[in-house]
Amino acid sequence: TLVALPASVSTVFDSVVTRNPHEPEFQQAVHEVLHSISPVLEAHPQFEEGGILERMVEPERQIMFRVPWVDDEGTLQVNRGFRVQFSSVLGPYKGGLRFHPSVNLSIVKFLGFEQIFKNALTGQGIGGAKGGSDFDPHGRSDREIMRFCQSFMSELWRHLGEHTDVPAGDIGVGAREIGYLFGTYRKITNRHESGMFTGKGVQWGGAEVRTEATGYGAVYFAQEMLAVHGRSLSGTRVGVSGSGNVAIYAIDKAYQLGATPVTASDSSGYVVDDAGIDLALLRRLKEVERERISAYVAHRPGARFVEGARPWEVAVDVAIPAATQNELDELDARTLIGNGVRVVVEGANMPTTPGAISALQQAGVLFAPGKAANAGGVATSALEMSQNAARQRWSFADSEAKLHAIMKGVHDAAFSAAERYGRPGDYVVGANAAGFERVAHAMLAQGV
Ligand code: GLU
Repeated sequence: TLVALPASVSTVFDSVVTRNPHEPEFQQAVHEVLHSISPVLEAHPQFEEGGILERMVEPERQIMFRVPWVDDEGTLQVNRGFRVQFSSVLGPYKGGLRFHPSVNLSIVKFLGFEQIFKNALTGQGIGGAKGGSDFDPHGRSDREIMRFCQSFMSELWRHLGEHTDVPAGDIGVGAREIGYLFGTYRKITNRHESGMFTGKGVQWGGAEVRTEATGYGAVYFAQEMLAVHGRSLSGTRVGVSGSGNVAIYAIDKAYQLGATPVTASDSSGYVVDDAGIDLALLRRLKEVERERISAYVAHRPGARFVEGARPWEVAVDVAIPAATQNELDELDARTLIGNGVRVVVEGANMPTTPGAISALQQAGVLFAPGKAANAGGVATSALEMSQNAARQRWSFADSEAKLHAIMKGVHDAAFSAAERYGRPGDYVVGANAAGFERVAHAMLAQGV
């Protein structure tokens, strides 16, 4: 149920629906961009003449492949692998790999499409792509993960390279998986090509702060939004969903800025801890023991586990959805609004449904879309590529200062584009317009 689009973009959207049936997430991501860029098209008739929209919604290349591997019982398993190389107009294809049973072409395309504009917003010369597999790493042994990664890479390697396509992690792909994937590429190609993957271990070409970057960046973005109104995060109650990299380091940075994060979740439910989430405990359970979130309450008498629910029923000032797509719907938004939420910042990609976004915006809640707010991850990936190219290693403090400056830049680009197009404070319009402009100008300059 997506609202009708202005005439200037509705034909493009209709053809996207016709050409990509049964791809609801991809259609949703395209719709969100088209919904906000009419004023950009009006101001730039050359974009329409150049067929920018028609070209932009069609990936440059889509790769789907078989991933056969043998599990610990000796049984043959077959998964499906994907890489959608959406746009290389601003730089090599760049974007993560997601290993999760829900992964399909629609999900990978929505993520790849978002990635184009996110990466453009960082201003760092990186194109947009995404990939992954419907492989479920949950409960798999280390050996199984390694064999899967080796099989996955035995096909994908030929499509990658530091000047071609540079993957990184996403849901289900962290330092361990990146190690196995990178190692396979190195063996097949006989090249220690550091810059062909980001999110590597810091001992072998990885960047400081890459692990923390997405979560830290989202909180920096919230800080910038509040600063416009002369406010800060200090003293606020923060609700976070998820318990992966993004959630954990959003919680970490929220504490550093004087806020109290009170929730975390996974697909089984959420925990609420009014005294503030015990960060060391959460990290141990999730990063070391790979436990379910319910294990948290056994160690914290004051905390509660709510099975099968999402944390949006907990009253907070700031909400950071940092789990997965479409995890905060219109009903959740109304509950949050009723409980006095003032800021919603997307740590995940497209976690907020279109109905929820408009409810939040109409209620005057400050809303930051993921393609701006979670750009810190990929921005730090670009810093990793710079360090690899120069064979340098920057300190944690230096890298964090760079991340902070980039997030301020992303905020200011989105904020000022919203003002320019007559929608002050609308970060959805601002992020889409600013990202779109950069990509569209580059496409025009480079010809069809
Ligand atoms: N998967 C992350 C994202 O959604 C990071 C991608 C990258 O670092 O290339 O932006």
